[in-house]
Amino acid sequence: MQKSILVTGGAGYIGSHAVLALKDSGWNPIVIDNLVTGFRGAVPADIPFVEGDIADHGLISATVEKYNIIAAMHFAGSVVVPESVSDPLKYYYNNTAKTRSLLESMIKNNVGHFIFSSTAATYGIPKTIPVHEDMPKNPINPYGTSKLMTEYMLSDVAAAHNFNYCALRYFNVAGADPKGRTGQSTSGATHLIKVAVEAALGKRDSISIFGTDYDTEDGTGVRDYIHVSDLAAAHVIALERLIESPKESYIFNCGYGHGFSVTQVLDAVDRVTNNKLTRNLEPRRAGDPDALISDNSKIKQQFGWTPQYDDLNKIVQHALAWEQRLIENPIT
Ligand code: UDP
Repeated sequence: MQKSILVTGGAGYIGSHAVLALKDSGWNPIVIDNLVTGFRGAVPADIPFVEGDIADHGLISATVEKYNIIAAMHFAGSVVVPESVSDPLKYYYNNTAKTRSLLESMIKNNVGHFIFSSTAATYGIPKTIPVHEDMPKNPINPYGTSKLMTEYMLSDVAAAHNFNYCALRYFNVAGADPKGRTGQSTSGATHLIKVAVEAALGKRDSISIFGTDYDTEDGTGVRDYIHVSDLAAAHVIALERLIESPKESYIFNCGYGHGFSVTQVLDAVDRVTNNKLTRNLEPRRAGDPDALISDNSKIKQQFGWTPQYDDLNKIVQHALAWEQRLIENPIT
């Protein structure tokens, strides 16, 4: 029977790109998603889709058996940082406790490879940039802590069982599938590039710049924006490496190793649209660091990961094309 890869949260933003990357590389993804924030329409019709919860042992066991699952990519979880501050237990439940359940299902069913969506939020406010994987992890919100706790679980599970993992610490993920097959569809977005393309297409009147007095070249916050398709490709490389080297586990940053300020991002949107966004200068948002940039040398050296879309204009173009498609043909 054909081997398959379980993709939790495969109907979400990053998960749906990973499904396409797996499929494009000849793997068989099987999606499980509870559709709380995901969209059924984000998953191609020919990919098996299981609607349900990652903590449902019976469902996971039946799915593993039915599809001959040999590895999992785990994207399901909650991702809104301010919400994690106001409702921390939701994050410790959805991100930490449910992942514990999922891991138990993996071990019981002999699924020995696991790729985990971790985050740069595990570092908190780094003392120096670029941020290397070995630097201190001091998350400043429950979202980051909930993910760091999962990294600790993974390390312990890998030491105890026939199991290896790769935790990828994402920096600022943006853009959409270059072929227009999926993108960032959640409403009420707060992330800069998504908000900016919504404003460019008239879904919002203006865009706020949160803080102009940061210790950066132009005073606005600097982030390392990574194209979602380059991130998805890193997951496929990770999968293949975990299978090839079953005794090795990995924790890698995923970013381009350089950053853009808010002003530079908005300038790129203006360039791509040949228009001018109305910008409102506002106070800093709580908890935002001046600059967050990855040191990506480990993933480049050890996985040979080579980004294809390290180009801010392209990231904006792809995000804009997806936003346009959502206006013309809303996803459900
Ligand atoms: N930002 C902004 N206006 C917005 C959204 C974000 O000025 O409407 C800034 C934010 O302060 C930060 C950067 O853009 O400096 C990236 O923020 P985002 O929320 O996209 O990601 P984060 O780095 O907070 O995860």
